[in-house]
Formats: sequence, C-alpha cells, structure tokens
Amino acid sequence: MRAELAESFSIFRRILGLTRPYWRHISASVVLTVFYSLLSGASIYLFIPLLDILFHPEKVGAAASGDTGGVAFGLGTWFSGLKEDVIGAILAGSQTDALLRISVIIIVTFLLKNIFGYLQFFLMNYSEESIIRDLRNNLYRHLHSLPLGFFTNERTGDLISRVVNDVSVLNGGISAFFVTMMRQPLLIMVYLGLAFSLSWKLTLISLVVFPFTLAVIAWIALTLHRERGVTQERMADITAVLHETISGVKVVKAFGMEEFETKKFLQYTLAYLRSVLRINRIKDISSPATEFLSVIAGSVIVWYGGNQVLQETSLSASEFLGFLFIIFQIMPPIKELTNVANRIQEASAAAKRVFEIIDVEPGITSRPGARGVGDFTRSVEFRNVSFSYDGGQPVLKDISMVIGKGEVVALVGPSGAGKTTLVDLIPRFYDPEGGSILIDGCDLRELDLKSLRETIGIVTQETILFNDTIRNNIAYGLTECSVAGIEAAARAANAHGFIMEARDGYETVIGERGVKLSGGERQRLALARAILKNPPILILDEATSALDTGSELLVQEAIDRLMTGRTSVVIAHRLSTIQRASKIFVLDRGRIVGMGTHAELIADPAGLYKKLYDLQFRD
Ligand code: ADP
Repeated sequence: MRAELAESFSIFRRILGLTRPYWRHISASVVLTVFYSLLSGASIYLFIPLLDILFHPEKVGAAASGDTGGVAFGLGTWFSGLKEDVIGAILAGSQTDALLRISVIIIVTFLLKNIFGYLQFFLMNYSEESIIRDLRNNLYRHLHSLPLGFFTNERTGDLISRVVNDVSVLNGGISAFFVTMMRQPLLIMVYLGLAFSLSWKLTLISLVVFPFTLAVIAWIALTLHRERGVTQERMADITAVLHETISGVKVVKAFGMEEFETKKFLQYTLAYLRSVLRINRIKDISSPATEFLSVIAGSVIVWYGGNQVLQETSLSASEFLGFLFIIFQIMPPIKELTNVANRIQEASAAAKRVFEIIDVEPGITSRPGARGVGDFTRSVEFRNVSFSYDGGQPVLKDISMVIGKGEVVALVGPSGAGKTTLVDLIPRFYDPEGGSILIDGCDLRELDLKSLRETIGIVTQETILFNDTIRNNIAYGLTECSVAGIEAAARAANAHGFIMEARDGYETVIGERGVKLSGGERQRLALARAILKNPPILILDEATSALDTGSELLVQEAIDRLMTGRTSVVIAHRLSTIQRASKIFVLDRGRIVGMGTHAELIADPAGLYKKLYDLQFRD
C-alpha cells in the first residue's frame, strides 16, 4: 500500500514536471477559473433581486431588508453587508429603472462569465494538448534510442498502443486534474457560500438530504466505469481476432477454418453485446433514478423552506426561489467530481505505462569522446566473442574470425545456428557479452556509433520500404545525393528498367496507396539503396525464398555489383556466393565448426558443410 502510494506520488510528480513549460497558461487558467466560479454564483444570485423587482415592488427604492438569516460570524457579516449594499444599489430608483438595471447587469455578468469560461478552457486545452504532443514526441525519440532487443514482435502492438492510446488517456487525466479539480470544488464552494448566506438552516437540511442522492449517483458512475473496462476488453478480443485472421487469411482458408474462426468471432461479439447492453441498462436507469431522488430531496427542502416562507417569514419568496436554484446548481459539479477519481486513476495507470518505456535505458550509445571510424583499412575481427539474448541460452560461443579488407566471407549453417546474431553484432545492434569485436584493431565500443553505422551497409532478407517515392526510398538516410547518383545506383541494381515503367518513374510512391512491387523488385530497390550508400563494409543476408529465374538473375547481378570492391559478410544461400567467397565459416549451435574455401570444406565427406551443401546449395 505504502509502496503504491509512493509510486502514485512519483507518477504525479512526473506529470507535474511535464506541465512546467506551460505553467503560465495553466496559472492564468486557474485564476480565470476563480473568476468564472464567482461570476457563476453571481449570475444565479442576481435572479433574487430580479424576482423582487417583479413581485415585490415595495422593496424597490427602499433599503434592502435587514436579516436574511446569514451566519453571524465575521466573514458572514461582511458578506451580508456587501450583499445588502449591492442589492440596495440595484433596487434604487423606480421599478422600471431597476428592471433595466438588473437586465443589463445580468447580461454583463453572463457575458463576463462566459468570456472567462472560454478563455479558461482555451488556455487549458492549449496546455494539455501541447503536453501530450511533447510527451508523444519524447516517447518517439526515446524509442529510437532503445536497443534492438527491445523491439520484439510481440511488443510492436503494445508499443504503438502506448504511444497512441495511453498518451491520450493521460490527456483526460490532466484535464480532470486541472479543470475539474479546480473548477468544480470552487463552484461548489461559491454556491454553498451563497446558500449559507441565504439560509443556513435550509443549507444544513440540504446537506443532510443530498448526500444520499449523491451516493446513488456516485455508485452508478462507479459501476458504469467498471463495466466500460469490461467492454473495452471485449472490443480488444474482437480486434485481436480480426487482426489475426485477416493477416492470416491464407492459413485460415488453407486449413478450412472459416467456420471455426467465424464461431469464435460470434462468441466475442456476443460477449461484447452483453457488456454494452449492461452499460446501457445502467445508463438508462441512472437518469430517471437520479431525477426521482433529486425530486425527493428537493421536495423535503421545498416543504421545509416553504414553511419558513409561509410561517416564519425569515426568508422572502424570491430568496427561497434563489436558494432552490443555487442548491440544484451544486449537483452537476458534484456529479463531475465523482468521475474525476476514475479519470485520474486511469490516467495514472496510462502514465505508468508511458513512463515505463521512457525509463528503459538507451542500450547502446557512443561513449563520450568516442572517435570516428575513419578510413577502413585492414580488418574486422571477432575475438572470442560470446553472446546470449537477455542472459538466456548462449547463442554465440567463443567466436573468433578475421575478415580482411576486400574479402567476401560467407556464413553458412543450419537455421538457428546464430548467423543473423553474429552479423548483428558488427553494427552494434547488440554488444557481445564476452570477447570483443574490432575494426582496424579498435574495439567497436570505442567508436562513434553513427560513424560505425555509416561504414556499414546492410541488406536483409526482409526488404523494408517506406511509404514514400522510389527516389526517397533509394536515398533513404542520405541527405545529399544527386539525381544522377540515384539513377546510377538504380541501374547498377538492375532496377532502373522497372522504375521507368512505373507511372511516375522515380517519383512513384510505393506502399499502401502506391504501386505494389514484386519480391524481386523490392530486393533490387534495397540493393540500389546499399549501392548508393556505398559503404566499405557490407552485411548481406541473402534471401532464402526462391525468385523466378528472370528476377533471380537480375538480383544476382545486382548483388555481384554491390559486393565488388567491398568487404562483405554474407549469410549465404546461393551457390554462386559460396563459390565466390574467399572464406566460408560454418556455424553450428553458436560455434564455428569449420572454416575454409568451398573446395577445402567440400573435401570432408563427414563434415557439416558437405551435408548443408547437399541440402541447400546443390541445385
Ligand atoms: P540463424 O540466423 O543462424 O538462423 P539466429 O541468429 O537468428 O540464427 O538465431 C540464433 C538463436 O538465437 C536461435 O536459437 C534463436 O531462437 C535465438 N534468437 C534469435 N533472435 C532472438 C531474440 N531477439 N531473442 C531471443 N532469442 C533469439
């Protein structure tokens, strides 16, 4: 409990920290809220003299009546005095004068109240939305500083949901805190103060009857809130099924599971329907129930207050009506306040999820004073490197290898041997747990990260293209590059031909709303991207999936051109690559189990390489 409190407090402090750049706006908004609340009270209170002018002409022109039942302590007396002075001034002169005066005063009061109300909301909204934008930007920037290991598949949806949904929920909490928590209690205080000044006895009676009604309202609000959570979960189930089956529609069809999936879907929509209906039932009952309860409470007050007006004359009829007005104005702010706790609770849960990401340390960064790679002259060297993901099973064990400048080195091995992991260590997507990797004799961890990654080009099996023009996709990551350079790269990658056939040539947009490219075309664009970047060191993960022969040939040519004159580490799947490689490393379960040229390795009939060759490369 104590730990929870401490946590909530620290979350709260951090949210407050976010508001710091906007404290001027927020303070102004709070000050305006005070004015707004006072004017709200005044705007209702003004109906009392209005009623007096209309129905008690004898009061007009005379001094206002003495005792109004006000509380007899310092502030009360001062307030009663002030009230009498003001009402006296309003009621001066003839009845028509007074009527005109009160009408103008009512207009001005409402005008000011609404101007203040508008400005207050405007300033608050501005601050809130800006805070949310800042937070989203920070979060996004931070995401890019996190290590690759952070971004696993399962996490993608969760991460997106945190940046999009949780940040929005947080927004609700900020407004709940600053607007509702300021405005509503102020309004309640102003109304209560006015009610007390009119009749403390009636106010006390109201305070006894109303809480009962409010308890019911609060209970309904709470139940609704809980039920909404359930509805959201049901909706999440529906979304999950949709996502899964639409993206996996091929599998569903292939296994004849349409009926099964539909049944599952029907179950979820039924659960959702039930939950929604429950919410609506509660909602539908809430307003007649609260109305009826309010009427009971109101009637008790009317009965008691009416008696006072009729018998004791301690309260004038106008004052009594004014009192009723005021006391019913207290209800909406209280209703709002019952929601606030929920909203703040939701927001702090959301904030916690957002801060959890912000608190993840950027994994791999440049050391202060790290130096640039400079010209790559000699070698990339693995020295007794070992590695495991998150301290689990070792994935790489005691790997040592030297890749000389200009060499083409092929990595082969069964699936899961650790090839991808090994090459991922070179651009420092991960750091080794034991041993070290050196470029020209310098440990990667001593080098500037940006400079290191500029030295390396990576072409993976999965070609990631962005929703942008072909030109920008090829030039991705490069700030200065000429049109001629882009075209030359595209030609070298055998991509120029199909690009020119596309509707807008190099300006054609790829992706959702643009052209669809075949697997081979996508690969050639990725290769063009690497050729244009022109890095001295190349990491290439050859595609395992076979392309049609025409495409295959064009891709192969492009790869050959890309490797020319570069130091290349290739996860090899093509016969031509292993034949061209100056060294082949055979990996098995995280260890190097063989090294040599193709001819040397194939000579051992019992070796793993021979087996792999027969399986993977032969044809
Ligand atoms: P290969 O490229 O040779 O197929 P990988 O380097 O992809 O092998 O994988 C080596 C081992 O590491 C496998 O057992 C795989 O399950 C595991 N592995 C790969 N990526 C991750 C990851 N992000 N987290 C945990 N384990 C991983």
